Amino acid sequence: MLRNFRVVPYVLFGRGAFNQLDAVLSEKRQSPQGYMVFVVDDVFEERPLKDRIPAQDRDLVLWVNVDEEPKTTYVDQLTEKVMAYSESLPDGVIGIGGGSTMDLAKAVSLMLTNPGSSADYQGWDLIQNPAVYHVGIPTLAGTGAEVSRTTVLTGPRKKLGINSDYTVFDQVVLDPELLSGAPANQRFYTGMDCYIHCVESLTGTFLNAFSRAYGEKAMELVKSVFLYPDAEADEDLMMASYFGGMSIAYSQVGVCHALCYGLSFVLGIHHGIGNCLVFEALEEFYSEGVRKFQEMKEKNRIEFPKNMAQDLESAHLDRMTDIALTLDPLWENALGPDWKKVMTREKVKALYQDILT
Ligand code: NAD
Ligand code: ZN
Repeated sequence: MLRNFRVVPYVLFGRGAFNQLDAVLSEKRQSPQGYMVFVVDDVFEERPLKDRIPAQDRDLVLWVNVDEEPKTTYVDQLTEKVMAYSESLPDGVIGIGGGSTMDLAKAVSLMLTNPGSSADYQGWDLIQNPAVYHVGIPTLAGTGAEVSRTTVLTGPRKKLGINSDYTVFDQVVLDPELLSGAPANQRFYTGMDCYIHCVESLTGTFLNAFSRAYGEKAMELVKSVFLYPDAEADEDLMMASYFGGMSIAYSQVGVCHALCYGLSFVLGIHHGIGNCLVFEALEEFYSEGVRKFQEMKEKNRIEFPKNMAQDLESAHLDRMTDIALTLDPLWENALGPDWKKVMTREKVKALYQDILT
């Protein structure tokens, strides 16, 4: 059965697009008593963007901290804050930041209209009620969170997204100017998330014409950004992220993401850097992709942190392996229906040992 999936209906793209946010939101402000909730990465509390947020008197600005990737407990706290602020629902939730902040905004918009804890909805199509109108505004490019139908959350038992058609943003504002202040390392890690999405989609067994069309263009753009950057590099990176996200929407990611999920759940290593650390060790699966990756890393003079898991205990290794092996669709995309014959427990452990030491 072919999947019928929702995409973002409204896209505002271009330098200065952020200046039009006020006009976009004014159409959604339903009454003088209404309010908007801005979910903003707290890195901008000290930056000029703070004064450009079009918050009105009744609006609520939630500065969020993403030193740790989004947890279900944090989503629940933020949702409670909004509920305590007003008896009525907001007219909109606007996420401004990287993948973590956009995911928090998506999750809060869902949890305002669905009872219980966000941990109850980690999985596929468990959400029952449409979310509050929600807008995504990336300040880093690569995750594809701006176009995806998921919000990735770490819960008490698992790291898994709330995947649903209601998760998809109603509007995105893609302003390449917002990428300018990102540290070079972070820009590279998040950019490589997009590159790895493309490699995993384009080499996967789930590949189809839809995913190939988006994936090939995203791949071309991301390579040009990190190998031959020109004046439009930020525009290109933003479009690469969007197209990379569209590519995996109709295919799947692969070995690198499966291993990265285990790594971040157990050791708290972030998605971007985690994928980079894993990908380097995957020559056996993605030889051409890894060669190009090294070229981009060298050209951009990026050094990865060393010995991130000096005190790795065997219990940790078991837990990581358990988590990675639950991600059947990722392995099947990468290795085909008989993946269990190739990717045994011992093989996964050996890969983790190679990555972490
Ligand atoms: P991030 O949002 O985790 O941010 C990384 C760091 O960069 C943070 O310290 C943040 O404060 C800072 N930052 C963000 N924008 C900045 C800017 N313009 N200038 C300076 N600093 C800035 O990074 P990310 O790589 O964009 O997102 C990773 C997250 O996205 C993970 O939580 C991952 O699980 C999630 N993710 C979601 C999807 C999805 O489809 N929903 C897909 C992939 C990854
Ligand atoms: Zn990713």
